Amino acid sequence: MKIKKDLIDIEELILNHKNILFVQDIDGVCIPLVKDPMQRELEKRFIYSAKKLNKEFFVLTCGEHEGKRGVNRIIERSLKSRLIPKEKGLYLRGLGACGVEYQNNFGEVKFDGITEEELNFLSKVPKIMEPKFKKIVNDLFPEMDNDEIQKHIKKSICDTKFSPTINFNSLFELVGGDLLKRKRIQIKFQNMMNEIISEANSSGLNNTFFLHISPNLGTKDGIEIIKKATINDIGSTDIQLILKGALKDSGVLYLLNQFIGDLTGEKPFGSDFNIRNSPISLKDKISFCRKFIEPKDMPLIIGVGDTITSNKINKNNYYSRGGSDRSFLELIQALGVEYGIKNNIIFVDSSSGEVNRPSTQKNGFLGITDEEDFLKFDIVFHNGPKEYINWFSKIADKRFEIKNKYK
Ligand SMILES: [Mg+2]
Repeated sequence: MKIKKDLIDIEELILNHKNILFVQDIDGVCIPLVKDPMQRELEKRFIYSAKKLNKEFFVLTCGEHEGKRGVNRIIERSLKSRLIPKEKGLYLRGLGACGVEYQNNFGEVKFDGITEEELNFLSKVPKIMEPKFKKIVNDLFPEMDNDEIQKHIKKSICDTKFSPTINFNSLFELVGGDLLKRKRIQIKFQNMMNEIISEANSSGLNNTFFLHISPNLGTKDGIEIIKKATINDIGSTDIQLILKGALKDSGVLYLLNQFIGDLTGEKPFGSDFNIRNSPISLKDKISFCRKFIEPKDMPLIIGVGDTITSNKINKNNYYSRGGSDRSFLELIQALGVEYGIKNNIIFVDSSSGEVNRPSTQKNGFLGITDEEDFLKFDIVFHNGPKEYINWFSKIADKRFEIKNKYK
């Protein structure tokens, strides 16, 4: 695995290119991973740096902007104010909920292409999960009392608006190194989430949702493959119920449409374009861009993520590649090739957080990428979010200077 060492060349390219666009994941990239998502923290200086990049920066995350668990609350905590981010436009612009929830700097949210019925069903999901969760915990931990179960419900069921989630971390902590029990937790909750899909089907919302498993082992027949715990890797830690079409790579198209719209005054895919009517496959997405985006309007894109997996399936001697950031980074890389622009792919090693992830410092790229992987990293931040934020702030400052010099 070769990593381009010439960081200065990459920086020069980013700083001096006419139009650039950062498309960046959040958790594990600028926020260290923590077991309890309510404890997430974002450094103040990152918020101001993102603001400096102005329209050249978007986030693209499966977390949500709004609600009590939203990134907007983290920003308000970090700035110790609920007014300042709104007044000064310091919220992170871009897409939450895997492409469903768009917001501008002022925290004005919209969710194009989502119906009232879908939102209605989603709002009921956390309540549907509760009795199922209790039953599973009773099976796995027969000695646990009701108060304790309630505490775990609070930590494990995330009642987010667009993507209700079951998170295994608090139960994982109870079982310690018991591999068999870890795997049982993963399987039982996967079954629980499949039951919820069946309930959606029987309430008339056929083919509306899918399960997004983090991290995963790629997809088979359109279904994400759970990554079962092993001795060295805890595997999948949460499962989200997500609206079909909500994919980070479709989010890239949405953001490009927005970016070019801001730049030229006209959205290349039209003002009605949303992730629900986006082409699905990588190939179709590229042709779609080719058809509607003129080369002069295509920016140099810098894609940043931390969740990428590659695991060798020994018996078949092939790699199972996945991870929730893979698809959008692959699209960014492929668009660069298509348009002859050196798009940059940045990998942030998030293993220094509280969540067990493969570590580049300990094992190189084992479990992350491999020699034959189509996805190639241009920059790797082995030391995690802090190191990335240092670099990001430097680039944002310099870019700001350059942009304002030529004004
Ligand atoms: Mg992440």
